[in-house]
Amino acid sequence: MVAMIPHSRPTLGVEEAAAAAETIMSGQISQGAKVAELEASFAAFLGLKRAVAVNSGTSALHLALLALGTRPGDEVIIPDYVCTALLNAVYYTGATPVIADVGEADGNLDCRAALRLITSKTRAVIVPHMFGNPCAGIMRFRERGIPVIEDCAQSVGAELAGCKVGTLGDLSIFSFYATKVMTCGEGGMVASNFPELTAIVADLCDYDNRNDYRPRYNYKMTDLQAAMGLVQLARLPDFIHRRREIAQRYNAGLRGLPLRLPTALPGHDSIYFRYVVRVADAESLLTHLRSSGVVAARPVFKPCHLLLGGADDCLVSLRLWLESVSLPIYPLLQNAEVDRIITTIWNYYQKDSKLDLE
Ligand SMILES: *Cc1c(COP(=O)(O)O)cnc(C)c1O
Repeated sequence: MVAMIPHSRPTLGVEEAAAAAETIMSGQISQGAKVAELEASFAAFLGLKRAVAVNSGTSALHLALLALGTRPGDEVIIPDYVCTALLNAVYYTGATPVIADVGEADGNLDCRAALRLITSKTRAVIVPHMFGNPCAGIMRFRERGIPVIEDCAQSVGAELAGCKVGTLGDLSIFSFYATKVMTCGEGGMVASNFPELTAIVADLCDYDNRNDYRPRYNYKMTDLQAAMGLVQLARLPDFIHRRREIAQRYNAGLRGLPLRLPTALPGHDSIYFRYVVRVADAESLLTHLRSSGVVAARPVFKPCHLLLGGADDCLVSLRLWLESVSLPIYPLLQNAEVDRIITTIWNYYQKDSKLDLE
């Protein structure tokens, strides 16, 4: 029996273990100097004025929305083909999510469709760069005067026309959950070049020792997390390099099969958080892979409009959901494992064509 290949795996080793141990032995495990160091390093990495660490990507989205003044009665535009963290964050503020369809090419927000949804109540748009791939139309919203929250939870280090994602909106958010490109178990970051916005985020994420009262949140990152995060941030270039190598191996190995490989638009430097292929029937390929010891997944569990039971006008999102399969991709994945996955997919199509002949 060959070993199961998991869908994702964090890249953690002796350096993270040493940093965590050092922090534990220091006696300072909650928020302290390590968090401040990670915030400074992260802001420098993006070339932005300030980054504020929080305890998850969801908290980061929530505080970014609050920094923009989002409140009940407002509308926030989000894409349909995303995880429910976006919906949750919008609902936390009491605002109403307005759901836009996504683009056929890469599953990112269809910015032209989103622009048509702007009303006098639109407070912000959340633009995720899905699967590691920058969203093309992001600059259109600021031209229209709509504040943009860039969701970089899946795309830290990706670039659009030479600019790092996270520097293109009013605020950007990141996640350091275990399956993400860099991780400290759970964690998140809000970054911005607008000091008045990051000041609100920093104010709201820590409730203690304040002279004025307003409802605040305990969304603080811990030094234990930040110590791991600092190691992961230093290793990020290597992580991205290896992800791109694996993507190229898949590209070469899967060429010639009747499935659609990820499209690389010019100027879009994906970090391949996910390697997503499109097939006629995702469910049957997922089952075949699993029976051969490969855990693949749908890159988005379920489109938002299906969860909310709303009007079904997100046809592209629905189609992508039915047809997309995310193959394992992470720095610890060995070439031999990539080759085994490629062979398993070739076998799937050979089995199919045999059935056709019968
Ligand atoms: C993971 C993710 C989030 C939420 O991050 P958490 O740290 O899990 O709260 C938000 N947006 C996108 C696109 C994500 O992939």
